Amino acid sequence: MKTIIEPFRIKMVEPIKLTTQAEREVKLRAVHFNVFQIPADDVIIDLLTDSGTAAMSSEQWAGMIRSDESYAGARSWFRFESVMRDLTGMPHILPTHQGRASERILFELIGGAGKVIPSNNHFDTTRANIEHSGAKAVDLVIDEGKQPRSHHPFKGNIDLAKLARLITEVGPERIPVCMLTVTNNSGGGQPASLENIRATRDLCHRHGIPFFLDACRFAENAYLIKQREHGQANRSAREIAQEMFALADGATISAKKDGLVNIGGVLLMCDDALAARANNLLILTEGFVTYGGLAGRDLEAMAQGFVEVLDEHYLEYRIRSTAYLGEGLMKAGVQIVEPPGGHAIYIDASAFCPHIPPSAFPGQALVCALYRHAGIRAVEIGSVMFGAGGAPPMELVRLALPRRVYTQSHIDYVIEAITELYQQRDSLHGLRIIEEPPTLRHFTAKFAEI
Ligand SMILES: *Cc1c(COP(=O)(O)O)cnc(C)c1O
Repeated sequence: MKTIIEPFRIKMVEPIKLTTQAEREVKLRAVHFNVFQIPADDVIIDLLTDSGTAAMSSEQWAGMIRSDESYAGARSWFRFESVMRDLTGMPHILPTHQGRASERILFELIGGAGKVIPSNNHFDTTRANIEHSGAKAVDLVIDEGKQPRSHHPFKGNIDLAKLARLITEVGPERIPVCMLTVTNNSGGGQPASLENIRATRDLCHRHGIPFFLDACRFAENAYLIKQREHGQANRSAREIAQEMFALADGATISAKKDGLVNIGGVLLMCDDALAARANNLLILTEGFVTYGGLAGRDLEAMAQGFVEVLDEHYLEYRIRSTAYLGEGLMKAGVQIVEPPGGHAIYIDASAFCPHIPPSAFPGQALVCALYRHAGIRAVEIGSVMFGAGGAPPMELVRLALPRRVYTQSHIDYVIEAITELYQQRDSLHGLRIIEEPPTLRHFTAKFAEI
């Protein structure tokens, strides 16, 4: 059979409120063309983020009912710990309320003024936590990772020559850790290869530098390794994921992605002394070491989610759905970041609306048009998000796919809407900012049409 189906059936549904274009026009104007300010109930297909938006399985919900809410040593903790140990082999497993809490604990301990922390691309909360500690965050993704139309299979790889140069320049004693984000969220959801992960680990270890994964999308990365890396096709995604973790000295994870839950995170490490200090910080700000800021039911849902996410049929459907959206758009002539990565499709907005200059925010114009035309919510990743500090490298619109939430007909609707908009792209209007906050302006800035 050629058709890849959603490998689940639906036993609980959440109605979508359907709105008309005229109604959406009114709402868009009321929020000054900033879709972050639109109530989710007024969105038909919400592709704002894949974070914390997954649909949980019947087994996850059942686990939540079975959960143990004891303060210390709850049964739910032991189940979670055993699932994570099996998957990662890490001796120290710290539950946290989400990814950035893991980052904050890690960088509070090993960051600080004068330190330099490289990665392929740091995710924005990771960078912010590193900089908050006083350290410097450096992005060293390979050059192909910055070119939207390069077809390199592993555009999330770190550039080993650049990493070696950095180590020589600043000295290994100033590099407390080297990170690698899998898949590379800020770089288009592109995977890193097992070969690159291994080589990065080897280079770091030659200089005594610990190597950590930002492993939020470890399962999607593992499946893309299986599909794209020579010699990996016959291994299970689980075996590949286990090898990825075995190569690392630790990891930060937001379970809101491949953990298939709505809240949760993990901090993993091998070093006993570092773990003892991390546990102290965990108790100080998150909670006791056997729950870390979560309820027992959250630990149950995570434990089950980290098992389900490595189901090969799920991963096949997941990666295929993302590619299907990308291929549908490319067939209509829309330019995207190629090849499609794991969790999202990124439209090249400057190619979509060449008549709108970066100063008039082509990505934001497209985001607004998509909402107006079809009630679809996407997010601008371009001059609005990053332009306040100088020109960003690309004007992108991200369509992030929540896990197990939308079916193929929802995706067909998105493809049709964007195809129609592309055919009338000359009518899209640029925008100007009429009000903006001093930082993180994309959340609250107000716009007017030009
Ligand atoms: C989401 C994300 C984080 C932060 O996780 P939160 O749960 O949102 O705090 C860190 N790194 C990457 C790559 C992410 O995608």
